[in-house]
Amino acid sequence: MHRNRNAKIVATLGPASADRETIEALFRAGADVFRLNFSHGTHEDHRRRLDLIRAIERDTGRPIGVLLDLQGPKLRIGTFAQGPIELVAGANFRLDLDHEQPGDPYRVPLPHPEIFAALAEGADLLLDDGRLRLRVERFGVDYAETRVITGGPLSDRKGVNVPGVVLPLSALTEKDRKDLNYGLTLGVDWVALSFVQRPEDIVEIKGLVQDRAGIVAKLEKPSAIHKLDEILAETDAVMVARGDLGVEMPAEQVPSIQKRIVRSCRRLGKPVIIATQMLDSMIAAPVPTRAEASDVATAIYDGADAVMLSAESAAGKYPVDAVKMMNRIITQTEADPYYREVIDASRTPPRAEMADAIGDAMRRVADLLQVAVTVAHTRSGFSALRMARERPKAPIIGMTPRLATARRLALVWGVHAVLTHKIADVLEMTEFAGQAALKEGFAQTGQTIVISAGMPFGTPGTTNLLRIARIDRGSVPS
Ligand code: PGA
Ligand code: MN
Repeated sequence: MHRNRNAKIVATLGPASADRETIEALFRAGADVFRLNFSHGTHEDHRRRLDLIRAIERDTGRPIGVLLDLQGPKLRIGTFAQGPIELVAGANFRLDLDHEQPGDPYRVPLPHPEIFAALAEGADLLLDDGRLRLRVERFGVDYAETRVITGGPLSDRKGVNVPGVVLPLSALTEKDRKDLNYGLTLGVDWVALSFVQRPEDIVEIKGLVQDRAGIVAKLEKPSAIHKLDEILAETDAVMVARGDLGVEMPAEQVPSIQKRIVRSCRRLGKPVIIATQMLDSMIAAPVPTRAEASDVATAIYDGADAVMLSAESAAGKYPVDAVKMMNRIITQTEADPYYREVIDASRTPPRAEMADAIGDAMRRVADLLQVAVTVAHTRSGFSALRMARERPKAPIIGMTPRLATARRLALVWGVHAVLTHKIADVLEMTEFAGQAALKEGFAQTGQTIVISAGMPFGTPGTTNLLRIARIDRGSVPS
C-alpha cells in the first residue's frame, strides 16, 4: 500500500478521534503523521492514542509518524470574580500581578512577571486570540495601565499575546519538560516546540532530546521570523503555526511569511508543515469553503512537505472527511501539469557536497530514464531528505534498517519509508530495493530503478554510491 501523492498529511488527535476505529480510518484516509497536542488531554489520553497508532502500524505494516506538540509558554490572564466582563474601546483597563484579587470590569490578574519586565510604553497586549487589543500607557514591575483599543467580552484564563516583545522566557516550561520526558519514554518521532523566539530555544531542547526525536520549531512569534535563518540552521523541521502567528503579526503579512519560510526550508532541505485553519469550516460542516481548498492547494504548489489538521480532526464533527478532503486536494493539485512547472522552477541549486551530488544525479537519471522509483538507502534519513529536497518526479522509497528513521520520514515530501534488515553489500541492496519497488506497487518487472547508498554500509554520512538497475525477473535485478 502506498499513497499516490508527495505532500503529507498531519492529523491532530483529540476527543473526536480517540478510538481505534477512528484513528485507523484517519490513517486509511491519508493521515501520515499523528499529532498529540499536549496543550490538551492527560498523559494517559496521549499514551492510549499512541498505543492505538502503534497497533495500527503493526497491523498495516506501514511506519506512522507521531509528533508530540509541547504547549510552550502560553500566557494567560487570571480569573474574574463574577464571570465574563465587557471591555469598551477607549476605556482604561489594568493588569497586575495581584493574583489574590480576582478580576473585575476594571482590572484582572496577569500572573506573568516576565511580561511586565519586558514591556515598553505603547506596546500592545492582545487577548483571546487577538480579538481584544490593549495599549500600554504606563507600567511598572508588577502592573500595566492600558487603554482598550479593540473591546469585546473577556472571560477567565483567556490567552495573552505580546507581539513584538522578546520575552525573557525559555520556550520550555516546567510542564513542557514533564511532557517531553513522558513523550520520549513513550517513543514519539518528532517533538514540536511552541513559541520559539530564538535559535537558543532549539539548542536547549536538542540538548534534552538528543537524537531520540526530530525537532520541529513552531514559527508563531515575530521574533522567530526576524531570526528565521538562525533558527532554521538549528532545527530539523518547522511548522508555520499560522494561528498564533496571525495574532502576533498582521493577517496580511502571514501569506508572504508562509511562502518565505517554505522557500527557505526547501533550499535547506528541511521539512516544513503548514498548519492551522486549513479546513477550519469542516469542524462543523462536511465540506470546506472554496477558499480553504485553495489554501491547501497553495501550500502544495509551494512545495511544502506537509499540511496539518488541528481541530478539524481533533474535535470536529467530520475528522475522517477532513483527511479525505485534504487527500483529494493534494492529489488533484499534484496532477496539475502546472504543479510540476512551479516545483521545478522553484528548485534551488544543491550544495557542493557528496549527498547533494548524488541527490541531484538521482533526479536527473530518474528524468532521463523515466525510472519507476528512486530508492535512498539511509540509516539516519539524511540522504532521503537530500533526495526529497530535489522534489523528483518519480516517488522516493526511503529504505532504512531503523524503525525510528522510517517513522520520522513519514513527514517528508515524497518519501515512502520501507524497513529493511541490515544490508551487507551492493548486490543485497539492489535486490532488496527491487523487491520493495515491486511489493509496494511502485514498479513492475522490466522497469528501471535508481538507488543511492553509502559505502561502506552502515557508516553514517557517506552517501557516495548511485546504482541504476533493471528489475529483471521479479526479484533479481541486473
Ligand atoms: P497551536 O499551534 O495549535 O498549538 O496553537 C499552531 C498555531 O498556533 O497555529
Ligand atoms: Mn500556536
